Amino acid sequence: MTGKWSGAELAIFGGRPAFDTPVIFGRPNIGNRAVLFDRLDRMLDAKWLSNGGELSREFERRVAETAGTRYCVATCNATSALQLALRAAGLRGEIIVPAFTFAATAHAAAWLGLKPVFCDVDPLTGSADPRSVEQAITARTTGILGVHIWGRPRALEAMQELADRFGLALIYDSAHAFGCGYAGRPIGGFGTAEVFSFHSTKFVNTFEGGALVTNDPEIAETAARLRNFGISGGDDIAEVGTNAKMSEAAAAMGLTSLDSMDYFVARNRENYHRYRQGMSGIAGLSLLDIDESERSNYQYAVVDCDIDRIGLSRDDLLAVLTAENVYTRRYFYPGCHRMAPYQTDRAFPGTDRVARDTFVLPTGVDLEPRQIDRICGLLGVIAHNGHAIRDALARTRRAA
Ligand SMILES: *Cc1c(COP(=O)(O)O)cnc(C)c1O
Repeated sequence: MTGKWSGAELAIFGGRPAFDTPVIFGRPNIGNRAVLFDRLDRMLDAKWLSNGGELSREFERRVAETAGTRYCVATCNATSALQLALRAAGLRGEIIVPAFTFAATAHAAAWLGLKPVFCDVDPLTGSADPRSVEQAITARTTGILGVHIWGRPRALEAMQELADRFGLALIYDSAHAFGCGYAGRPIGGFGTAEVFSFHSTKFVNTFEGGALVTNDPEIAETAARLRNFGISGGDDIAEVGTNAKMSEAAAAMGLTSLDSMDYFVARNRENYHRYRQGMSGIAGLSLLDIDESERSNYQYAVVDCDIDRIGLSRDDLLAVLTAENVYTRRYFYPGCHRMAPYQTDRAFPGTDRVARDTFVLPTGVDLEPRQIDRICGLLGVIAHNGHAIRDALARTRRAA
C-alpha cells in the first residue's frame, strides 16, 4: 500500500482516492463479442426471435448438461422461473423461505398468493438452518424454497430429509450457484426443481434470464406450458399461464457466456486466491472460505467483519471504501423479515448477524491483480485504524 499508512490520508477525509475510476462489484462478464454478433446475425437471418427457437433450445441443452439434469426450461428471468417452479409443483398455503435472501425469493411466492414464512440462517454461512426450517413448518406448509447463498450450498441432505418427512416440495433458488457443486454432484438436480438466474450481474448471463432445471418430466412439462401462456398445443389453453419465455437474443448471449464459462471460473478463482493471500494478515476481516473439494463458480468473494475487533461498523467501512472508488455490495440488508411487505415480530438473529457484518468484494474477468493488491492494502489500513477512523468520522459528522 503506497502512502496510505494512516487513516488521515483516506479519501473520505479529503485524501486522493486509491482508484481514479470506480472498481465495481457486479460488472458483467462479457464473452467473445464476435461470436455473439455472429449468433445474432444468424438469428436475424433465420427471422426467429423468440418462442423456443434454435438458440434457446441449444441454451437449454447446455444448461441441463452443466446442471446434470434431464430437463431445462429457459425463462426471461429467475423470478419468473421460481414462479413456474412453485406453480408446477402445485404449491399452496405457506412456503418456508430463508430470511437472508434477495427479496425476489419471497416475492416469487407472495406474487402467486402464497405466504412466505421465514426461517433463520446459520450466522456463519448465511445458509438456511434446518432446525429453524423445521420450527417454521405448520399444517399449511406445502414447500421449502431453499437458497444456495453465494454459491455455497449447505446441508442439502438435512433439507431433503425434512421435505421427505413432512411431505413437502423442495425447490432451490440457485441464482448464485450455476456451475457449483455439492457432494460431488452439480447443483441443479437437488430437490424437486432448481432455478438459476442469468441476470447480467450473475456468473453466466443472458442480459436478463433464468432457467428451471429438474429431473421430473411432469414439472418440466408443466413449467414449459405455463411459461407460454398455458398453451398445450394449437389453440388449447387448459389453465392460467404467463409469459416467461427467453428470447433468442438472450439465448445468443447465454451461449456465448457459456462458451467462456471456464475462463470466468479461472479468473474468479485467481481473484479469490489473491484476495485470500492479501487479506490473510488482516485481523478482524476474513474472507469466507470456498470449499475447493467441490465445484465452484467463485463468483462471490464474501468478507465477514469482526466489527468489535476493528472498531468500525461494516457500513462505515464500506463508506470509506466507496470514497476510495471501491464499490462493494452488502447483501440482502436488512433481511426479508425487516422489509415492508414482510415485517414480522419474530426474531432472526442469524440473519441479522450476516446482514450486518458481511459484504462482497468486486471480482470477475476485468479485475486486475494489482487492483486486488490495492484493495487488500486499503482493507488493512482501514482494519488497523478502525477506532481512529470511527472517531474521525464522528467528528466530521458532528461538524457537518
Ligand atoms: C438475482 C437473484 C434473483 C433474481 O434473479 P432475476 O433473474 O433477476 O429474476 C433471485 N434470487 C437471488 C438469490 C438472486 O441473487
